[in-house]
Amino acid sequence: MLKLLVPLVAVTACADVSGIENKKSFGPAVAMIDLFTTCYLVKTDVGPILIDACWRPDELRVRLSENGVKADEVTTVLFTHGHQDHVAGLPILPNARIAALADEQEVLTKYVKGDATIDDVLTDGQTLRFGSTEVKVYAVPGHTAGSAAFLIDGTLLLGDSALVTAKGALGPVPKDRSADPELNVRSMVALADRLKAEARVVKWLAPAHSGGIEAGTALQTFADANR
Ligand SMILES: [Zn+2]
Repeated sequence: MLKLLVPLVAVTACADVSGIENKKSFGPAVAMIDLFTTCYLVKTDVGPILIDACWRPDELRVRLSENGVKADEVTTVLFTHGHQDHVAGLPILPNARIAALADEQEVLTKYVKGDATIDDVLTDGQTLRFGSTEVKVYAVPGHTAGSAAFLIDGTLLLGDSALVTAKGALGPVPKDRSADPELNVRSMVALADRLKAEARVVKWLAPAHSGGIEAGTALQTFADANR
């Protein structure tokens, strides 16, 4: 099992990061955790979707079951990025479409067992609809080339593009964890400015390797501290 451990694990075991909690809801997104990684479940009128495919397949099956969802009911996985602890559960989701930014294909191919071809190629600024659930797609390159954030009914799913600290602030992912850490931070600053300019309502921030927080001014504070 140790060979499955990926770099962020070492970071998120650290006391400086807010703890993750299974089944905790952030708006419509329910946390499903495995060790130090969170993927999120969103139930829509047209079936359940996931934000990332979680880590160990058997654990994912249990987490889905805890939430009354069977693996074959998941219709789509929106990938924040393709690192192993975010994709390894995918093979147990036979009916899930793979939705990701085009730039993430290479990372997905590297870490997904079997076919990892993106079914729905997402674009920056795109709006997706799953019944009455609207998903805004934002490219935030840096942690990986094709990293994405998703805004779903006021919850901003951040993947590994940022972390919540134990003090409840939004902070950057440690530099040695990302393909291009400077770009990662620039992307987060740009995202904060863009959400403000678009007057988007952001109620919750939900990263993958820390707990989430009420958004408040955390995103703007992060941006102002990192310009
Ligand atoms: Zn990652």
